[in-house]
Amino acid sequence: MSNIKPEDFFKNVISHSKEYGFIFQSSEIYDGLSAVYDYGQLGTELKKNIRDYWWKAMVQLNENIVGIDASIFMHPTTWKASGHVDAFNDPLIDNKDSKKRYRADVLIEEHIAKIEDKIKKEVEKAAKRFENFDEAVFISTNARVKEYQEKIDFINTRFKTALNDNNLEEVKQIIVDLEIVDPISGSRNWTDVRQFNLMFSTSMGSVSEDANTIYLRPETAQGIFVNYLNVQKTGRMKIPFGIAQTGKAFRNEIVARQFIFRMREFEQMEMQFFVRPGTEMEWYEHWKQTRLNWHLSLGLGKEKYRFHDHLKLAHYANAAADIEYEFPFGFKELEGIHSRTDFDLKQHEQFSGKKLQYFDPELNQSYVPYVVETSVGLDRLFLSILASALKEETLENGETRTVLSIPAALAPYKAAIFPLVKKDGLPELAESIMKDLKFDFNIAYDEKDTVGKRYRRQDAYGTPYCITVDHQSLEDKTVTVRHRDTMLQDRIKIDALPAFLEERVGIKSLLKTL
Ligand code: ATP
Repeated sequence: MSNIKPEDFFKNVISHSKEYGFIFQSSEIYDGLSAVYDYGQLGTELKKNIRDYWWKAMVQLNENIVGIDASIFMHPTTWKASGHVDAFNDPLIDNKDSKKRYRADVLIEEHIAKIEDKIKKEVEKAAKRFENFDEAVFISTNARVKEYQEKIDFINTRFKTALNDNNLEEVKQIIVDLEIVDPISGSRNWTDVRQFNLMFSTSMGSVSEDANTIYLRPETAQGIFVNYLNVQKTGRMKIPFGIAQTGKAFRNEIVARQFIFRMREFEQMEMQFFVRPGTEMEWYEHWKQTRLNWHLSLGLGKEKYRFHDHLKLAHYANAAADIEYEFPFGFKELEGIHSRTDFDLKQHEQFSGKKLQYFDPELNQSYVPYVVETSVGLDRLFLSILASALKEETLENGETRTVLSIPAALAPYKAAIFPLVKKDGLPELAESIMKDLKFDFNIAYDEKDTVGKRYRRQDAYGTPYCITVDHQSLEDKTVTVRHRDTMLQDRIKIDALPAFLEERVGIKSLLKTL
């Protein structure tokens, strides 16, 4: 789909997801719930396979990493200690005419992006005009570009100071001074800016007077921190070691759009790695690279990923980077790698009154470990894979085919089995092959329509191999195996099918590339 506009391509990804049972809008029959989605029959398989691959790469392949499954509900003090009650906020502003709500920081960032675009255009124009064009020299000397750059720096400094001082009047004043208009109403009729906490709350207890406000966890990390000592002691873990977890997280996102990129209920896959203080930067670099390699192993293309090192750090971090992926709407955060220092464990020590220390036999001393975190959104990963996999190809005969080139080991169905016709004992043989294979692989069985149509259906599901049982199969116990990506066919022995598939679609085939 190279000559299709990115926004149209993204629409195709969304409609393909729905048409083939990957993703549905939540409670669609009631017109849906904003930024909440359900995974359908194929989506659930793909999501499970991605999660399994992450789990095996992080837990099974690392003797010093173990996994847990903490509850979504946690003691409310957890979120006071973590800083989420006081500081997990977005600055909000409403437009009084359109009645739409925006994140003030996003409005300002979008304004800056427009100025950056102007610089880009100046550079492109100049690059066409001059031979031996030196972009760096041009940017540092061209008067107009310098003026734009100064504007950006000025806004950035003013905005960061306002946020650091929690000066919301100043944030609004910046929006007013920049003459930012509401994209819907076109007006500058803004309310004041206020902080909005992103945590969902509910109450626990059957009698409302006794009810205690509790939160739906906004990240899985805290479930790991509060279990640090339990796991370290019962698992006899020696530093450095990690605790991994996958599970749902909830955020009342204001600007929730771009399909499953930003949801209000989503799934995280996180690993907290506990290290000796002073060694955290080495481990931070190690995990940055290890996680990037994991993404690259999916084969979606090296050029699709880049690091974005954070200059402004969260209060708990001494280094942080995002692994960004080029989604159809641009490079965006896929995974965060954070060096969280001893902030979280120390906060929990303070709020719980319990010691969360480690006795290091080599140093003969106790300390609160430092933590390096890797945190990736399962839904964003799903979207990156789906968007990269969807292709519309024109075949030699002029027909088009829609194919999902999902990494074979992650595909919902690993193979589909077709009897060529629904008679002559072919369905019976096909079913017996299916019976053998289904203990190890998720297999589709299809006997409806022509084989050509069945191929197209499986291409759209992303099934890497189609196995056709024909009359020759009855005689020599061989079948045709057709490859999704090349559409080439092999004739192979029925007995050889398990090994053939294991080598190509088993999760081991991916794990071995790490
Ligand atoms: P963003 O800047 O996009 O809001 P974040 O920096 O708040 O993300 P983290 O708190 O670092 O995100 O969470 C770790 C990962 O969880 C992110 O890299 C992303 O993949 C995923 N994630 C965070 N928020 C959402 C969301 N609303 N929907 C889907 N995935 C999310």
